[in-house]
Amino acid sequence: MLYRVEGIVIRSMDYGEGNAIITLCTENAGKIGVLVRGAKKVKSRHAALIQPFTLGQYVFFRNNGGLGTLNSGEIIHSHHPVREDLIKAAYGSYACELLDRVLHDEETGSFWFRQLSACLNALEEGKEPGVTINLFEMKVLQAAGYAPQLGACIACGREKPDDELLLSPRLGGVLCRSCRHNDPPAMEVSMRALKLLRLFAALDLTRLGNVDVKASTRDELKKIMRAFMDTQLGLRLKSQNFLDQLDKYNI
Ligand SMILES: [Zn+2]
Repeated sequence: MLYRVEGIVIRSMDYGEGNAIITLCTENAGKIGVLVRGAKKVKSRHAALIQPFTLGQYVFFRNNGGLGTLNSGEIIHSHHPVREDLIKAAYGSYACELLDRVLHDEETGSFWFRQLSACLNALEEGKEPGVTINLFEMKVLQAAGYAPQLGACIACGREKPDDELLLSPRLGGVLCRSCRHNDPPAMEVSMRALKLLRLFAALDLTRLGNVDVKASTRDELKKIMRAFMDTQLGLRLKSQNFLDQLDKYNI
């Protein structure tokens, strides 16, 4: 059967001689693997269609689920500037790998297609990559059923002033100081960072404007989101190593 889908390349790997298998996050058909014959050969008209982050229209044959075989395709938005910039590409790869690992095929519907599109567009437009990715991570945590509880204390359930709150990635939310014994390593959180976390929880990526965040708050958010991702999801992503290297050298 012939399918026509709009999708974003979230993974691309070599396969056999000159071929590639791409994984698409599509708007209406979930996550799909498509074999692109000859894509790695010089002069292939499909070479651009297998590049990571490419948004395109893909027409392929597929029988009974399984892997599709590309018939033709057309680029809608190449996201070339994301691929060409070391930092943007690192964050873009992380977003794609995260989505690929966390979401099952049937979960990746139009919501995720739009979130990933918005994420890549934000990176391309030069929005702060760390903030963009933290927001993306928040959406992933929510979708995976690990939305941090950022209002009332997660142990006693009481509403407390923000300056009395700590963050517990292990318990999955804010903890008041009188409940600290529930998780002694709970993290300190500035009011500024807490407000932004609440904003992330409520905001859709397609609505991300130019958020002006101080460098110290950005670092804090990065540390907090990393702790939540590691504790709650515990994934080991290849693209994370590279981001860690960038952090290490303060790039
Ligand atoms: Zn409490």
